[in-house]
Amino acid sequence: MVAETTATKTLEATLAPPTAHKERRLERTVATYRRTLEDAFESGADTQSAVNDVVTPYTLTSYAKDALKSYVPQLSRTYDAAEIGDDHPVRFTNRGFRIDHSSERTHEFCWRVPQAGRGNAFWIPLRINPEQESLWFDLFTDDVTVGEFRLQQHRTTWVLHVTVEYDVVDPEPTDDPTRIGFDIGESKLLTGCACQDGTPTQPYIYDGGRARALRKEMHTTLKRLQERDAAEWRIDERFDYYQNALTDIVEKASREAVEYAASFEDPVIVLEDLSHIRENLDYGTYMNRRLHAWAFARLTDRIEDKALEAGIAVEFVNPRYTSQTCHACGHIGSRESQAAFTCTNAACWVSEYQADINAAANIAGRVDPWGESVPWKSERDDSPRDGSTVDSATARREPSARPAQTTLAEWG
Ligand SMILES: [Zn+2]
Repeated sequence: MVAETTATKTLEATLAPPTAHKERRLERTVATYRRTLEDAFESGADTQSAVNDVVTPYTLTSYAKDALKSYVPQLSRTYDAAEIGDDHPVRFTNRGFRIDHSSERTHEFCWRVPQAGRGNAFWIPLRINPEQESLWFDLFTDDVTVGEFRLQQHRTTWVLHVTVEYDVVDPEPTDDPTRIGFDIGESKLLTGCACQDGTPTQPYIYDGGRARALRKEMHTTLKRLQERDAAEWRIDERFDYYQNALTDIVEKASREAVEYAASFEDPVIVLEDLSHIRENLDYGTYMNRRLHAWAFARLTDRIEDKALEAGIAVEFVNPRYTSQTCHACGHIGSRESQAAFTCTNAACWVSEYQADINAAANIAGRVDPWGESVPWKSERDDSPRDGSTVDSATARREPSARPAQTTLAEWG
């Protein structure tokens, strides 16, 4: 029997510049959606039927209303904010997804924009990302399933995101894999943690100091541009600059992450499912959020791509509470600073813990719970029983030798 894993990917396309008429309809869709979302969020509705009561009177397609019914309750649970940001995309459920393809057109793919009322939907050409072309074609087959799709206005352009799921054959299905969870965070850009025989082992940390510096620099630059009332294209241009700089960091971090995972026996990489909202983000300025969301999605995608190339299976888990839960006892604790997680369970041996490692251990453990209070293995006790494993592990771990040597005492 061939085992299969469901992989998730987000397809991205920019809408070809719409006519003035279509642009107004897009703007109206976004405006109505945001009013509905705000109304539902502020009403405190936390069940599908409570949200339904709020959204029913709005002139919004049922696909967007249905998306709100599942999204808003989840939002109220995971998003610790007095008000929601103004940059939420319009979400639609997969039932409303229609595209058309013709090689005769300049823009071969067209998307049907759902609208309230029968016959009101309209078509718009897409500029797809060429790297994703084969996946766009797969949308016409049974090979992929559309999850949800989202429309977002980015200053001067409109962007469509489509979440797709598809089955990949597990590269090497084994009975006892080593699961390695990765947490993408603020204090450290990327933190990996393996779970061996039910015990968290040797974390990997990509500090990402350069990424933080870039974010800080961007924040300052943006503020200055806003104070000077700079044109929007100037701001967009700066954003592109920072995005390109971050791309290099993302490539390096994802390569190291997969090397780290490959140093374990029968590795399986565990990542957070992007279709959920990330908790504990630094919700600072709009640009900061946008850049962070982009880096988060990109890093996840690249780890997945490189893992599959390396023959390593990837699993996705729901990220809810991964950074607030104690990896040892499962209790919800507190995270008073970005760097430290505190377990409030008096019976648990964990008091304060490096927050990103705790989150990564939770992500690995979400697939394969290791039960109660398991102490970390010390570096010394970590030697595998058979010598051959030691050799191969040591040899393969060399590229990321520095982060692997981080002592646990420093975090415990
Ligand atoms: Zn605990």
